[in-house]
Amino acid sequence: MAHTAIITGGSRGLGAAMAKKLGEMGYNVVLAFHSASSQKLTEEVAAEIEEKYGVETLIVRADVSMFEECEKLVQATIDRFGDKVSVLVNNAGITNNCNWIDITPDQYQRVIATNLLSFMHMTHLVLPYMVNHSSKEDQCNIVNISSVGGLTGVINQADYCASKAGVIGMSRALALEYAGKGIRVNCIAPGMIMTDMLRGVNQDELNALAATIPEGYIGGVEDIADAMEYLLNANYVTGQVVSPNGGFVMQ
Ligand code: NAD
Repeated sequence: MAHTAIITGGSRGLGAAMAKKLGEMGYNVVLAFHSASSQKLTEEVAAEIEEKYGVETLIVRADVSMFEECEKLVQATIDRFGDKVSVLVNNAGITNNCNWIDITPDQYQRVIATNLLSFMHMTHLVLPYMVNHSSKEDQCNIVNISSVGGLTGVINQADYCASKAGVIGMSRALALEYAGKGIRVNCIAPGMIMTDMLRGVNQDELNALAATIPEGYIGGVEDIADAMEYLLNANYVTGQVVSPNGGFVMQ
C-alpha cells in the first residue's frame, strides 16, 4: 500500500509543484487548500496527479492557521488513507509588505499564525502517527518551507522573516528530538521563485530583481520540488536548511 503525504497550500505555486512530485514519487497525496476560490485549482492539480502517476489524492479545505482546522485535515487524512502518514510538507504561507510603524497587530499576527503556528499545529498532530510506524528502513519526513527571508533580513518583511527564521529553529529542535527514531525534519529556504507571491511585480522590477541574483534569473517551482525530492531520499540528512536561491544568499 502506498504511503501518505500531506501538503498544505497545495493549490498553486510551490505547493502544487511539490504535490505533483509527491505523486510522481508514489505517495497518495493529501492537498490542503484555503479559500473557496482555490477549490477548482486544487481539484485540477489532484486530477493531474491521479492521471499521471496512478496514486490517490484527497483535497481538504482547511485554514491551517487554526488548530481545529488542522485537526480536521489530519482526521480526514486518517479516515481516507489510514494512519501511515509518512510525509508532511508544511508549505502554506503569506506575506505582508509593510513598514513596522504602519503594520497592524492583526496583520503580523496573521503572518505568524499562517507561516509558523500552522507548521507547529500540523507537526504536533501528525508526529504521533509517524512515531507509530517510522523505522530506520521506513523513514518519515517533515519538510518545512522557510525562505531566504529566514536567513537574512528583507525590508518591510519583519513579520515574514521572523516566521521563517522561527520555522528553521523549530525544525532543528525537532530534528534533534526525533533523531534516531526514523523521523527526519528539514527545511527548504527558497530564494526568489516565480509564483503568485511575485504577482503585481512588473517586468522592469522582475528584471531588476533577477539582476541581484548571481545566477541571473528568478528560479522556477521545479527547483523547489527537486529540493524536496532530494530531502525525502537523503537518509542521512536531518536538521538542515537547503536553500535553492541562485547564489542570492550563501550560508
Ligand atoms: P502562493 O501564494 O502561490 O501559495 C501559498 C499557498 O498557501 C496557497 O496555496 C494558499 O492557498 C496557501 N495558504 C495561505 N494561507 C493559508 C491558510 N491559512 N491555510 C491554508 N493554506 C493557506 O505562494 P508560493 O510562492 O507558492 O509560497 C509557498 C511557500 O513558499 C510559502 O510558505 C512561502 O513563504 C514560501 N516561499 C516562497 C518564495 C517565492 O519566491 N515564491 C520564496 C521563499 C519562500
